[in-house]
Amino acid sequence: MDIILLGPPGAGKGTQAHRLVEHHGMMQLSTGDMLRETRKADTELGRKVADIMDSGGLVSDDIVSAMIDAKLADMGPEVGAIFDGYPRTEHQAAQLDEILAKHGRSLDHVIELEVNEDALVERITGRFTCANCGAGYHDTFKQPKVEGVCDECGSTEFKRRPDDNEETVRHRMSVYRNETAPILPGYEKRGIVKRVNGMGGIDEVTHAIDAILS
Ligand code: AMP
Repeated sequence: MDIILLGPPGAGKGTQAHRLVEHHGMMQLSTGDMLRETRKADTELGRKVADIMDSGGLVSDDIVSAMIDAKLADMGPEVGAIFDGYPRTEHQAAQLDEILAKHGRSLDHVIELEVNEDALVERITGRFTCANCGAGYHDTFKQPKVEGVCDECGSTEFKRRPDDNEETVRHRMSVYRNETAPILPGYEKRGIVKRVNGMGGIDEVTHAIDAILS
């Protein structure tokens, strides 16, 4: 089963994708994570990607679609893909259709996490992750059980994303409205869009997604 998790920055796509990986053995394909790896490299591409990400703009369609194509080439047909943060433009959505067809796959669901944008700014600016295993936390909503120690792996190193500041977040949201939301009508015509209230608790959202997948 291949699905897209769609929603503005901070809607909880990454959190829910991690759970789908754990509960259903699916594979998370997050272009944001892939680009964060790319930007670490001291190369022209790494620097270009870092500049775009820090401004909250979008990296070129061809770059992200090539990354997705390469990941799918390595995946067996039995493993379901969760597209997280991709596609983000109408062109990427068309590229994804071609890539899936090439690998003999097709989309089962586009799950839209519906959220209140104002609440998202608080969500995003408070979030941090374990530097070792990537488990997600939040200053207000989800502190580790033992302060300063990751619940999942025991690491004491945490990190925050450089683009999780209010100014960049507001820009990323307008990019979502203008570039990404327009991909929904095309999927709606195909009858594969499912909507989930993304403002519920993390477990509630997971249950709603599980109900769609079962
Ligand atoms: P994310 O982790 O999904 O919020 O992505 C962080 C940043 O990476 C975005 O603000 C964009 O600059 C870039 N990015 C991630 N995915 C894409 C994509 N599919 N297309 C273009 N840029 C992307």
